[in-house]
Amino acid sequence: MTKLTISKSQYIKGLQCPKALWLSRHSKDLASEVAQTKQALFDTGRDIGDAARGYFANGVLVANEYWETEGAVEATEQYTQNGEGVIFEAAAIHPSNGCHARIDILKRVENSNQWDLIEVKGSTKLKDPHIDDVSFQYHVFNGAGYEIRKCYVMLVNSDYIRNGKIDPQKLFKLEEITNKVLAKQSEVDTATRQLNSILVDQTEPKELIGVKCSTPFECDYKNYCWVDVPDYSVYDVFSKSKVDEIASQHGFDIKALPDQIKPTGTKAIDVQSYIEGETHVDAPAISDFLRQISYPIYYLDYETIVPAIPMFDGTKPYQQIPFQFSVHIQHTPNGDLTHHEFLHKDRSDPRRAFAEKLVDLCGDTGTVLVYNQSLEKTRNKELAQDFPEYASAIQAINARIVDLLEPFRKRWLYHPDQRSSASIKAVLPCFSDLSYENLGIGSGEEAMLQYKNFIAGNIPEYELEDLWKNLSAYCEQDTRAMAILLDALKQQAHE
Ligand code: SF4
Repeated sequence: MTKLTISKSQYIKGLQCPKALWLSRHSKDLASEVAQTKQALFDTGRDIGDAARGYFANGVLVANEYWETEGAVEATEQYTQNGEGVIFEAAAIHPSNGCHARIDILKRVENSNQWDLIEVKGSTKLKDPHIDDVSFQYHVFNGAGYEIRKCYVMLVNSDYIRNGKIDPQKLFKLEEITNKVLAKQSEVDTATRQLNSILVDQTEPKELIGVKCSTPFECDYKNYCWVDVPDYSVYDVFSKSKVDEIASQHGFDIKALPDQIKPTGTKAIDVQSYIEGETHVDAPAISDFLRQISYPIYYLDYETIVPAIPMFDGTKPYQQIPFQFSVHIQHTPNGDLTHHEFLHKDRSDPRRAFAEKLVDLCGDTGTVLVYNQSLEKTRNKELAQDFPEYASAIQAINARIVDLLEPFRKRWLYHPDQRSSASIKAVLPCFSDLSYENLGIGSGEEAMLQYKNFIAGNIPEYELEDLWKNLSAYCEQDTRAMAILLDALKQQAHE
């Protein structure tokens, strides 16, 4: 049998950076640990792949593990010889260069020996890497002797609204990309030749670091290749379109940049603050901001899940479902904070109970203070639309929202350690000792992942008490942090 060379995922990795491909073969241990977000993406991809099989009746699955390429090829050939019409996870090896691939769905054109290639993707829109994926798969299957009629990407239909059992025919849509795939074939020929030769080379390829290390995917080897890049560098302050050129001409260190290269706008404030080690304060702008805030203040924060496959009736793919909120209420300046929360500890749709409790707790006067208002305001609009009985009360809450992000995003208050970020996680440690580090759940992504695991039944009953405790502590910290940041603003404005 042909000696195996590169797989589809290695091809995609090599297209982004040949060195990443080489490292993945020769120095795998240099890769950073799989990040939580990557794991979440992987889980989503698996859920989507499983659901997509329901689109075709009577498909057969090549059940071999992903590393059992030869066995998977044999099983695929057996199925094709048996006259099967739809084969999931079909595998092939290119006989002359050893490239190998599996395709989500290999579909026989009725009463013929022609086939359609269908690759399932979790996104709602076609993206360039999808074309590269299928172009490589076409190269392999065509080279292995399959007569390919058409190529498709199966995407998630963002207009689908769940009503009862998931209907795969409506949840997914097929987008034909045959011409785009055919147009790429000479590029695939050349790239596979080059990448195969890089892979057998014993010398690590030389590659400049740059924007490509995060585009289209975050590379696993940044810890290794970016070791000489300071924590805060030109990559934090310049746009993608010009940063590589600036880095190659002037290096990574912001302090070494000539004056004529320094950025403009808010980034100019960041850089000056960093170089001088001084906090930047625009006291009049902060005072103007503070004037719109009135007591009682409701410090409010939501946690959501974003299921690719709608979990509840009346929801769409990737709709953000709020399942938890924290609210600290402060009746007077420097007054005590009273804490309340909502956390849906049931696997049912949390939204109605969420809306009811929100309306119950947020009163009807005073400022509702959030950090990055688009999340809370948009969820509120959706809740008002889906639960009309709460619409006017929720709209009234939205009308009282003030965004605490604004003074930090606009750099009315900026600490040099923020490193060009206005996220609450970047800002909070600059103005308080409060930290997310010792919490059982320390980020919104983790909260999302854990709650999705709960809904999917993946968390044993005896661990649920800890889950509730950790989720509560995390969300409470976000609203407490807002009260601290409001105080920091007041201090800077001498109010
Ligand atoms: S970090 Fe950048 S240069 Fe290094 S392997 Fe990854 S993409 Fe290539």
